[in-house]
Amino acid sequence: MTPAEIARFEPPADYLAGRIILITGANKGIGRALALAAGRCGATVVLSGRSEKKLEKVYDALVAAGCPTPALMPLDLENALAGNYDAVTTAIGAEFGRLDGLVHNAGLLLTRSPIEHYDVPTWCRILQVNLTATFALTQACLPLLTKSTDASVILTSSSVGRRGRAYWGAYSVSKAGIENLSEVLAHEYEGNDAIRFNTVNPGATRTDMRALAYPAEDATTLKGPEDILGAFLWLLGPGSRGRSGGRYDCQVG
Ligand code: NDP
Repeated sequence: MTPAEIARFEPPADYLAGRIILITGANKGIGRALALAAGRCGATVVLSGRSEKKLEKVYDALVAAGCPTPALMPLDLENALAGNYDAVTTAIGAEFGRLDGLVHNAGLLLTRSPIEHYDVPTWCRILQVNLTATFALTQACLPLLTKSTDASVILTSSSVGRRGRAYWGAYSVSKAGIENLSEVLAHEYEGNDAIRFNTVNPGATRTDMRALAYPAEDATTLKGPEDILGAFLWLLGPGSRGRSGGRYDCQVG
């Protein structure tokens, strides 16, 4: 498939049937839309986010749509310690015994500012949520992912992670780290077709984060989260088996 065909991929109704997929930042934006789309394709979605209350609305929407009963896994990626990651993987292990998909979607932008004035605590918070927590959660989940016969890990990147851009500071650097982390993991598991690691760049998408970055923009000109999911869904399912270490774009051409 070409990059454009992958970006426009429309999965059959059973494309993710039987798969257990953990999605971070599943309460809104791209994470919420992906959770609903994956559930509609037959996946059992493990919804992760900071607030259980916010996640419950997505849980209810999945149940109302007749999707497999999801699971709730609250986790604050800014403050998580080893015990919090262990609690998540122990619960998933006890309920499902394995993990077939892990989507690192949660992300933090906070501010845009030149490096000359960039606030150090802000830098640390963004690196923690976008990069360090991605590493830590992946590490914690690897024993469950390697129990799957076809596991897919997706790290959500950005165009500013593929080439650094002025004023995007820690966000840009964290997303560059994501690209590198994905490649390191893909290399470490090279030759193992049962697990793959790839990055996905959503491109400009109508969400709260985009509105924070471009407050003056007319959001009606942007695609909505539910319109950009082709590459995410393709990578989560059997069509992408063996494709590891790649960089994918949701909006091509
Ligand atoms: P939103 O701001 O709509 O959603 C961000 C998600 O991350 C929310 O669910 C938020 O939860 C969660 N999150 C933030 N901090 C934490 C934390 N400490 N612990 C757990 N969850 C947290 O953004 P998008 O949907 O736009 O972004 C999704 C991904 O796509 C991000 O990785 C972003 O960088 C990337 N992206 C988005 C683009 C766009 O144009 N929208 C373009 C390129 C990349 P809460 O509600 O609790 O804050």
